[in-house]
Amino acid sequence: MTGARDLSTLPKAHLHLHFTGSMSLPTLHELAAERGVRLPDALKGGWPPKLSGADERGWFRFQRLYDAARACVRGEDDLRRLVREAARADAAEGSRWLELQVDPTSYAGPLGGISPALEVILDEARAASAATGTGVGIIVAASRIRHPLDARILARLAARYAGQGPGEVLAFGLSNDERRGDTDDFAPAFAIARRAGLARVPHAGELLGPESVTQTLDALAPDRLGHGVRSVEDRDVLARIVDEGVALEVCPRSNIALGVYADASQVPLHALVDAGATIALGADDPLLFGSRLVDQYELAREQGFSDEGLADLARSSVHASLAPAPVKTAILTQIDQWLATTPDPPVPVR
Ligand SMILES: [Zn+2]
Repeated sequence: MTGARDLSTLPKAHLHLHFTGSMSLPTLHELAAERGVRLPDALKGGWPPKLSGADERGWFRFQRLYDAARACVRGEDDLRRLVREAARADAAEGSRWLELQVDPTSYAGPLGGISPALEVILDEARAASAATGTGVGIIVAASRIRHPLDARILARLAARYAGQGPGEVLAFGLSNDERRGDTDDFAPAFAIARRAGLARVPHAGELLGPESVTQTLDALAPDRLGHGVRSVEDRDVLARIVDEGVALEVCPRSNIALGVYADASQVPLHALVDAGATIALGADDPLLFGSRLVDQYELAREQGFSDEGLADLARSSVHASLAPAPVKTAILTQIDQWLATTPDPPVPVR
């Protein structure tokens, strides 16, 4: 064993983190108390929340808890707090570049519309980037459970704030239950995003298999896929992902919590990497899945990835990111420096 470098100091990019799901449990408890919101039992205890029992799994349950958490996030101060805390938490885990995904529709009411809600988030993303040194860009994501015309409205909004740096909209996404809605219906929204120069990063290949990946590739011309892990179930689909250079935002602990995979050993990290796929490990929703970014790298280490392999995963996250070229170069240099440090000696096995 040569490993055992500290994974929280491994520089990396974090490309799959949802706004509400990034919240810490103490923050949720504070907001709920202030607003008089009654939280479901699963969110009342300590972190990590106890979601791992068989009856706690599944999308419906997840969505109910997510909605309860979202109901606690209301005005400008809350939006700013979540961005700030997400950036700080990421910085503490070695993330040098964070792409935070948000559907501003959920927070539009108290702010007077989706534009002011997004502007507050972008403004705080700029401030948090400066304060933490971790660049924070925003992905505007539409929801599959709303009308495709809503997705077009969000794509036009995202286009207005499109840019390539911290505090700008980097990409357009599509989230929520993959089994809902028709992917083809969202093509016009993604065309708006493409014309605006935004990257396209829809979810697919998580709750559904390779046929959903194919449909998404055909209809939405994505640059990356949220999850996409189930591409691995069809050799041709996986080959297409690799050939077209579509990166996968892989969130192992999320997959296990939602029952996509039974346990850590089943998440196909080696199969994806061996096939030549570009993958970026992400936490998805730490609030609900009880794991943050470093935990995903720890899982890879459990699967047998050496420190060299883990550094490659971090490099892969940087390549897949939408960070400006000089930022990418700087993080890649920092990864080389991490690997050049001497690892802690292995713990003797008795
Ligand atoms: Zn997600």
